[in-house]
Amino acid sequence: MAPPAEQPTVLVVEDEPAQREVLAYNLEAEGFRVSRAENGEEALILVDEDAPDIIVLDWMLPRVSGIEVCRRLKMRSDTRSVPIIMLSARSEEVDRVRGLETGADDYVVKPYSVIELMARVRAQLRRTRPASVGSRLEFDDILLDAETHRVFRAGEALKLGPTEFRLLSTFMEKPGRVWSREQLLDRVWGRDIYVDTRTVDVHIGRLRKALCQHGGEDPVRTVRGAGYALG
Ligand code: CA
Repeated sequence: MAPPAEQPTVLVVEDEPAQREVLAYNLEAEGFRVSRAENGEEALILVDEDAPDIIVLDWMLPRVSGIEVCRRLKMRSDTRSVPIIMLSARSEEVDRVRGLETGADDYVVKPYSVIELMARVRAQLRRTRPASVGSRLEFDDILLDAETHRVFRAGEALKLGPTEFRLLSTFMEKPGRVWSREQLLDRVWGRDIYVDTRTVDVHIGRLRKALCQHGGEDPVRTVRGAGYALG
């Protein structure tokens, strides 16, 4: 993937320190410049100082709630166009609708997969800053289109489950990099969900099968005692 034209800036608003750091870490790993706020009031001050390209905003925040921050920013002409992705532990449809009615551009329910959230962030930025994000990843004869969720090998479409798709996106972002099972769990399943590391092996097996469904060599490498890599 070509490097982004210019580093997009992301404001992460999350009062839970561990969640804030996981998000910031992953966004920085994706090449974003990240600023952090731990409550709604701080978020509004930071936006005033320097409006980010996108905001990832927790719903439940001390002082000023995420919903209120969203409402205020969407009322202002200078900040209206900044995409906002709301995070919420609430999953009821009525809350989702309320979140979107407040003007949020997207809505993600906790616990979420980090890969999924990164895809949503890229999708929003593709709309507002298309030059800053790439949607197609290529490795060897494999092509992954993050936007349409399609994978091709040597021009033939591959059938992949959602977990295998997220595993492959992780690998294709950094070909050659060795990922431990724990790192893959964090990236693909999300840290909030308990999943046994053997689950990773099962899905790696499925991914290998899927990648070779029309023939070709197995591109996934097992690194003894360390984990897995693509290429
Ligand atoms: Ca919260």
